[in-house]
Amino acid sequence: MKPLYFDNNATTRVAPEVVEAMLPYFTEYYGNPSSMHTFGGSVAAHINDARAKLADLLGASPEEIVYTSCGTESDSTAIMAALRSNPDKKHVITSRVEHPAIKNLCEYLGKTGYRVTFVPVDHKGRLDMEYLMRNLTNDTAIASFMWANNETGIIFPIEELAGILSERGVLFHTDAVQAVGKVPIDVQKTRIDMLSLSGHKLHAPKGIGALYVRKGTKFSPFLIGGHQEKGRRGGTENVASIIGLGRASEFVAAHMNDENSRVKALRDKLETQLIQRIPNALVNGDTANRLPNTSSIAFEFVEGESILLMMNEFGICASSGSACTSGSLEPSHVLRAMGVPFTAAHGSIRFSLSRYNTEGEIDLVLEKVPGIVERLRAISPFWQEYQKELASSKA
Ligand code: PLP
Repeated sequence: MKPLYFDNNATTRVAPEVVEAMLPYFTEYYGNPSSMHTFGGSVAAHINDARAKLADLLGASPEEIVYTSCGTESDSTAIMAALRSNPDKKHVITSRVEHPAIKNLCEYLGKTGYRVTFVPVDHKGRLDMEYLMRNLTNDTAIASFMWANNETGIIFPIEELAGILSERGVLFHTDAVQAVGKVPIDVQKTRIDMLSLSGHKLHAPKGIGALYVRKGTKFSPFLIGGHQEKGRRGGTENVASIIGLGRASEFVAAHMNDENSRVKALRDKLETQLIQRIPNALVNGDTANRLPNTSSIAFEFVEGESILLMMNEFGICASSGSACTSGSLEPSHVLRAMGVPFTAAHGSIRFSLSRYNTEGEIDLVLEKVPGIVERLRAISPFWQEYQKELASSKA
């Protein structure tokens, strides 16, 4: 059965153009880019072309790009570079809804001598800017706020954050893993000091990421080793994947506007019709400031995991939160931070689309999901209790 894939915030299909661009780097151009001979040197030249393509997508200069192995490594590199380069500063500020790549690192830092502030969000997932401003101090080494949330798609006001933080002289890192390729980014216009991204979220392979580091930012490598990446990240380059990320950046940049409006139309159809067809179904968070591909829908009084399992029988792949939290019975920390009630947070499903989804797939989800929720509610004690309460309030 061909999967109906609605889990693109977990990972995306590698685009055929990307695979094609990568293949010669396994078979023909397999030299080490650090080698002295021309065979290796030619590979280094191709890496630089790919670096320029990725830099273009961000409005950056090629020398401001440092390749890493993934979004998580980019996030750790950014935070640890800021702390090591500013050893007198012991405070880190971030939000309560970050991906575990930032959240767990910051919790760890909190236990190892740093002070960490987690800025709250409101019920729509919007950042409490006043709280942020009250908590910035001269001791703040770095502020890290995600560009777009992986679970809800909610976009933080990055431009405004960049303005406030640069005025206060605080280093600003953004985890843009979910934003790159889905929203226009221009680091010339927005004063971001460091930005993390990950190839597998934009149709490049898994195992390649990058960190943008603004020229002049004090930096210290996370992976200490060889002189690769101008001494900013040791380790032989993942050449084929770097080439793939370059190719993906190129086509994402070329098609972003058209694809985003097509994907947004499909997402909106899916969301509005699911909500129309299913009682007690609601969208989590601020629908006005969201990624075009993401919809987090709470089906009240049912277990998200049960919905996922039943959708899986029809080949429909989605997620009950971030890929990392699924499998746990705890509702996601993102929905909890937004104050989403227990009965809704537990039944929340994330649909995340890509350029490869079709209208026919949306129609199939619309055909199957209402019946699934109805069947699960028929055996849900919470739903039955809610129905009784409704009936008695009407009586
Ligand atoms: N940050 C965000 C917002 C993410 O969504 C993810 C992955 O889901 C990551 C970081 C981690 O990226 P990677 O899987 O490349 O380590």
